[in-house]
Amino acid sequence: MISIALSKGRILEEAAPLLASVGLAPREDPERSRKLVIATRRRDVRLIVVRASDAPTYVQYGAADLGIAGRDVLVEHGGAGLYQPLDLGIANCRMVVAVRRGFDYANAVRQGARLRVATKYVQTTRAHFAAKGVHVDLIRLYGSMELAPIVGLADAIVDLVSSGKTLKANHLVAVEDILPVSARLIVNPAALKAKRDRLQPLIDAFAKATR
Ligand code: ADP
Ligand code: MG
Repeated sequence: MISIALSKGRILEEAAPLLASVGLAPREDPERSRKLVIATRRRDVRLIVVRASDAPTYVQYGAADLGIAGRDVLVEHGGAGLYQPLDLGIANCRMVVAVRRGFDYANAVRQGARLRVATKYVQTTRAHFAAKGVHVDLIRLYGSMELAPIVGLADAIVDLVSSGKTLKANHLVAVEDILPVSARLIVNPAALKAKRDRLQPLIDAFAKATR
């Protein structure tokens, strides 16, 4: 059996046409089913439905052979024990620093005062500001980051944006780009060795479907 870890929501939505074109359309709709293990058109391949940020972990430990994960999640995870052969070109967005409209970010950074930054991307954010030599107090959140500057929990957030509509609706502006984000195919290297005859053609099929 070959298992592919992926998350519901944006990743599944945008990966669905790819899955279909490589012959792995799910046998039931993962968005509607409560099942976390879902059969596909191929009897030897199943989908396992995980939280977006957990996909690298399942693949790293070999609980899934393949996975689909955003670059945001992969950079935050660190990528240890993962082979990343393919950018799937889906779920495109950017990881940015955003602040309240009117907040003088350049000055806050220049002054050397500690900036309070709320995010779920704690490792990535720490590395970004350390590289710039900016002192930050990190506040770990699990969602709705846009709220933090509004209620005075933080001066800035690090989050994903695509259209910018959510930022705008919450009177925030992006002031710095950290990372362009898209989803990638990830592979457990030991599984690739052991099941290369079946995994490599799948990886090749994804590559062809992506082009
Ligand atoms: P969750 O917020 O529960 O982690 P999402 O479905 O919102 O799950 O996000 C899953 C992945 O989809 C993210 O890790 C990222 O790679 C991608 N993603 C999130 N937000 C956007 C967006 N606005 N535009 C494009 N891709 C996004
Ligand atoms: Mg989200």
